[in-house]
Amino acid sequence: MKIRILLVEDDLTLRQVLKQSLELEGFSVDSHSTLSGARAALTYHLNTLRSPDNFSIVIVDLGLPDGDGSSLIRLVRSQSTLPVLVISAREDDGSKIDLLDAGADDYLVKPFSIGELKARIRVALRRQSREVNPPTDEIRIGALEINLPKRLVKRCGERVHLTPTEFNLLARLLAQAGQVVTHRQLLNDVWGAEYVEHVHYLRLYMTQLRAKLELDPAVPELLLTETGVGYRFCELRALPD
Ligand code: CA
Repeated sequence: MKIRILLVEDDLTLRQVLKQSLELEGFSVDSHSTLSGARAALTYHLNTLRSPDNFSIVIVDLGLPDGDGSSLIRLVRSQSTLPVLVISAREDDGSKIDLLDAGADDYLVKPFSIGELKARIRVALRRQSREVNPPTDEIRIGALEINLPKRLVKRCGERVHLTPTEFNLLARLLAQAGQVVTHRQLLNDVWGAEYVEHVHYLRLYMTQLRAKLELDPAVPELLLTETGVGYRFCELRALPD
Protein backbone atom coordinates (compact mmCIF):
# COMPACT_ATOMS: atom_id res chain seq x y z
CA MET A 1 0.00 0.00 0.00
CA LYS A 2 1.28 3.47 -0.87
CA ILE A 3 2.32 5.85 1.85
CA ARG A 4 -0.15 8.71 1.79
CA ILE A 5 0.94 12.29 2.45
CA LEU A 6 -1.22 15.29 3.34
CA LEU A 7 0.56 18.27 1.75
CA VAL A 8 -0.53 21.83 2.61
CA GLU A 9 1.15 24.58 0.58
CA ASP A 10 -0.47 27.64 -0.97
CA ASP A 11 2.30 28.41 -3.47
CA LEU A 12 0.98 26.78 -6.64
CA THR A 13 4.36 26.12 -8.25
CA LEU A 14 5.93 24.67 -5.12
CA ARG A 15 2.82 22.58 -4.40
CA GLN A 16 2.90 21.07 -7.89
CA VAL A 17 6.66 20.42 -7.81
CA LEU A 18 6.45 18.76 -4.41
CA LYS A 19 3.42 16.67 -5.37
CA GLN A 20 5.01 15.46 -8.60
CA SER A 21 8.38 14.74 -6.99
CA LEU A 22 6.86 12.83 -4.10
CA GLU A 23 4.57 10.87 -6.41
CA LEU A 24 7.60 9.93 -8.51
CA GLU A 25 9.07 8.50 -5.31
CA GLY A 26 6.02 6.26 -4.95
CA PHE A 27 4.07 8.31 -2.39
CA SER A 28 0.42 9.17 -2.81
CA VAL A 29 -0.14 12.89 -2.19
CA ASP A 30 -3.35 14.70 -1.21
CA SER A 31 -2.48 18.37 -1.67
CA HIS A 32 -4.31 21.44 -0.36
CA SER A 33 -3.76 25.17 -0.73
CA THR A 34 -5.75 26.33 2.29
CA LEU A 35 -5.95 25.62 5.99
CA SER A 36 -9.69 24.93 5.74
CA GLY A 37 -9.21 22.32 3.00
CA ALA A 38 -6.44 20.63 4.98
CA ARG A 39 -8.50 20.72 8.18
CA ALA A 40 -11.41 19.01 6.44
CA ALA A 41 -9.13 16.26 5.04
CA LEU A 42 -7.45 15.81 8.40
CA THR A 43 -10.70 15.70 10.35
CA TYR A 44 -11.91 12.98 7.99
CA HIS A 45 -8.63 11.11 8.59
CA LEU A 46 -8.91 11.43 12.38
CA ASN A 47 -12.48 10.18 12.33
CA THR A 48 -11.81 7.17 10.11
CA LEU A 49 -8.70 5.62 11.59
CA ARG A 50 -7.37 2.51 9.83
CA SER A 51 -9.00 3.33 6.54
CA PRO A 52 -6.77 2.78 3.48
CA ASP A 53 -7.13 6.50 2.75
CA ASN A 54 -5.36 7.41 5.99
CA PHE A 55 -2.37 9.68 5.92
CA SER A 56 1.05 8.54 7.15
CA ILE A 57 2.50 12.03 7.43
CA VAL A 58 1.51 15.71 7.23
CA ILE A 59 3.70 18.32 5.48
CA VAL A 60 2.50 21.82 6.22
CA ASP A 61 3.49 25.34 5.19
CA LEU A 62 3.02 28.00 7.88
CA GLY A 63 1.87 31.03 5.92
CA LEU A 64 -1.48 30.04 4.40
CA PRO A 65 -4.14 32.38 2.95
CA ASP A 66 -6.74 31.56 5.61
CA GLY A 67 -4.55 31.17 8.69
CA ASP A 68 -1.38 29.82 10.20
CA GLY A 69 -0.34 26.23 9.50
CA SER A 70 0.78 25.82 13.10
CA SER A 71 -2.86 25.42 14.15
CA LEU A 72 -2.87 22.20 12.15
CA ILE A 73 -0.03 20.84 14.33
CA ARG A 74 -2.14 21.39 17.42
CA LEU A 75 -5.13 19.69 15.76
CA VAL A 76 -3.00 16.64 14.88
CA ARG A 77 -1.29 16.44 18.28
CA SER A 78 -4.56 16.71 20.18
CA GLN A 79 -5.68 13.43 18.64
CA SER A 80 -2.85 11.42 17.09
CA THR A 81 0.88 10.70 16.79
CA LEU A 82 0.86 11.32 13.04
CA PRO A 83 4.24 12.82 12.05
CA VAL A 84 4.17 16.51 11.08
CA LEU A 85 6.88 18.24 9.05
CA VAL A 86 6.83 22.02 8.75
CA ILE A 87 8.05 23.70 5.58
CA SER A 88 8.46 27.41 5.99
CA ALA A 89 10.17 30.50 4.71
CA ARG A 90 10.43 31.79 8.27
CA GLU A 91 13.99 31.77 9.49
CA ASP A 92 13.70 32.93 13.05
CA ASP A 93 14.63 30.38 15.65
CA GLY A 94 11.88 31.39 18.06
CA SER A 95 9.13 30.18 15.78
CA LYS A 96 11.00 26.94 14.96
CA ILE A 97 11.35 26.18 18.65
CA ASP A 98 7.68 26.93 19.31
CA LEU A 99 6.64 24.58 16.49
CA LEU A 100 8.85 21.75 17.69
CA ASP A 101 7.68 22.23 21.26
CA ALA A 102 4.07 22.23 19.97
CA GLY A 103 4.68 18.77 18.55
CA ALA A 104 6.03 19.19 15.02
CA ASP A 105 8.53 16.43 14.20
CA ASP A 106 10.86 18.60 12.19
CA TYR A 107 11.07 21.70 10.02
CA LEU A 108 12.65 22.61 6.72
CA VAL A 109 13.40 26.21 5.81
CA LYS A 110 12.67 27.13 2.19
CA PRO A 111 14.29 26.69 -0.21
CA PHE A 112 15.14 23.04 0.45
CA SER A 113 16.02 20.15 -1.84
CA ILE A 114 13.68 17.26 -2.55
CA GLY A 115 16.46 14.96 -1.30
CA GLU A 116 16.44 16.76 2.06
CA LEU A 117 12.65 16.53 2.28
CA LYS A 118 12.73 12.79 1.50
CA ALA A 119 15.35 12.23 4.21
CA ARG A 120 13.20 14.06 6.78
CA ILE A 121 10.10 12.09 5.71
CA ARG A 122 12.05 8.84 6.11
CA VAL A 123 13.20 9.80 9.61
CA ALA A 124 9.72 10.88 10.70
CA LEU A 125 8.13 7.69 9.39
CA ARG A 126 10.77 5.60 11.13
CA ARG A 127 10.06 7.45 14.38
CA GLN A 128 6.41 6.58 13.94
CA SER A 129 7.13 2.87 13.29
CA ARG A 130 9.45 2.77 16.31
CA GLU A 131 6.50 3.68 18.50
CA VAL A 132 4.83 0.49 17.27
CA ASN A 133 8.04 -1.60 17.15
CA PRO A 134 10.47 -0.36 19.80
CA PRO A 135 14.10 -0.01 18.64
CA THR A 136 16.58 -2.80 19.05
CA ASP A 137 18.56 -2.68 22.27
CA GLU A 138 21.88 -2.59 20.41
CA ILE A 139 22.69 0.39 18.24
CA ARG A 140 25.79 0.46 16.04
CA ILE A 141 26.82 3.54 14.18
CA GLY A 142 30.27 4.06 12.73
CA ALA A 143 32.80 3.11 15.42
CA LEU A 144 30.17 3.34 18.16
CA GLU A 145 28.21 0.51 19.84
CA ILE A 146 25.48 1.38 22.33
CA ASN A 147 23.59 -1.12 24.43
CA LEU A 148 20.64 0.80 25.89
CA PRO A 149 19.35 -1.62 28.59
CA LYS A 150 22.88 -2.34 29.84
CA ARG A 151 23.78 1.38 29.56
CA LEU A 152 27.01 0.32 27.85
CA VAL A 153 28.85 2.38 25.26
CA LYS A 154 31.91 1.27 23.27
CA ARG A 155 33.96 3.17 20.74
CA CYS A 156 36.26 1.18 18.44
CA GLY A 157 35.59 -1.82 20.73
CA GLU A 158 36.76 0.02 23.88
CA ARG A 159 34.42 0.72 26.75
CA VAL A 160 33.58 4.43 27.14
CA HIS A 161 32.63 5.56 30.62
CA LEU A 162 29.62 7.91 30.64
CA THR A 163 28.14 9.53 33.73
CA PRO A 164 24.44 8.77 34.32
CA THR A 165 23.45 12.23 33.04
CA GLU A 166 25.63 11.89 29.94
CA PHE A 167 24.06 8.52 29.19
CA ASN A 168 20.53 9.83 29.74
CA LEU A 169 21.19 12.73 27.38
CA LEU A 170 22.58 10.38 24.74
CA ALA A 171 19.61 8.00 25.11
CA ARG A 172 17.15 10.90 24.82
CA LEU A 173 18.75 12.10 21.58
CA LEU A 174 18.89 8.53 20.23
CA ALA A 175 15.17 8.08 20.89
CA GLN A 176 14.64 10.62 18.11
CA ALA A 177 17.75 9.94 16.02
CA GLY A 178 17.73 12.01 12.86
CA GLN A 179 15.31 14.56 14.35
CA VAL A 180 16.05 17.83 16.06
CA VAL A 181 15.22 17.93 19.79
CA THR A 182 14.87 21.39 21.32
CA HIS A 183 16.92 22.61 24.29
CA ARG A 184 13.73 22.78 26.31
CA GLN A 185 12.72 19.18 25.48
CA LEU A 186 16.19 17.87 26.38
CA LEU A 187 16.42 19.81 29.64
CA ASN A 188 12.92 18.80 30.66
CA ASP A 189 13.39 15.11 29.88
CA VAL A 190 16.94 14.67 31.22
CA TRP A 191 17.10 17.14 34.12
CA GLY A 192 13.45 17.89 34.89
CA ALA A 193 10.85 20.61 34.35
CA GLU A 194 12.53 23.05 36.75
CA TYR A 195 15.71 23.06 34.60
CA VAL A 196 14.25 24.02 31.20
CA GLU A 197 16.00 27.40 31.20
CA HIS A 198 19.45 26.01 32.08
CA VAL A 199 20.81 25.80 28.55
CA HIS A 200 24.37 26.07 29.87
CA TYR A 201 24.02 22.58 31.45
CA LEU A 202 23.24 21.24 28.04
CA ARG A 203 26.22 22.94 26.41
CA LEU A 204 28.54 21.58 29.07
CA TYR A 205 27.24 18.02 28.78
CA MET A 206 27.23 18.07 25.00
CA THR A 207 30.89 19.13 25.06
CA GLN A 208 31.66 16.20 27.36
CA LEU A 209 29.69 13.72 25.25
CA ARG A 210 31.38 14.86 22.08
CA ALA A 211 34.82 14.56 23.69
CA LYS A 212 34.00 10.95 24.59
CA LEU A 213 32.11 9.83 21.48
CA GLU A 214 33.18 11.84 18.46
CA LEU A 215 36.32 10.94 16.51
CA ASP A 216 36.94 14.70 16.16
CA PRO A 217 34.91 16.63 18.76
CA ALA A 218 35.55 19.87 16.85
CA VAL A 219 33.81 18.45 13.78
CA PRO A 220 30.97 16.36 15.22
CA GLU A 221 29.40 13.70 13.00
CA LEU A 222 27.06 12.16 15.57
CA LEU A 223 25.90 14.92 17.92
CA LEU A 224 24.92 17.78 15.65
CA THR A 225 24.10 21.35 16.71
CA GLU A 226 20.97 23.06 15.42
CA THR A 227 22.01 26.61 16.20
CA GLY A 228 19.61 28.37 18.54
CA VAL A 229 17.16 25.43 18.49
CA GLY A 230 18.68 22.29 19.97
CA TYR A 231 20.59 19.16 18.95
CA ARG A 232 20.15 16.31 16.53
CA PHE A 233 21.70 12.85 16.73
CA CYS A 234 22.60 11.96 13.13
CA GLU A 235 20.36 9.66 11.15
CA LEU A 236 21.25 6.14 12.27
CA ARG A 237 22.13 4.96 8.81
CA ALA A 238 24.01 8.12 7.88
CA LEU A 239 27.48 6.77 8.75
CA PRO A 240 29.09 3.71 7.16
CA ASP A 241 29.52 0.73 9.51
CA1 CA B 1 2.85 30.05 2.12
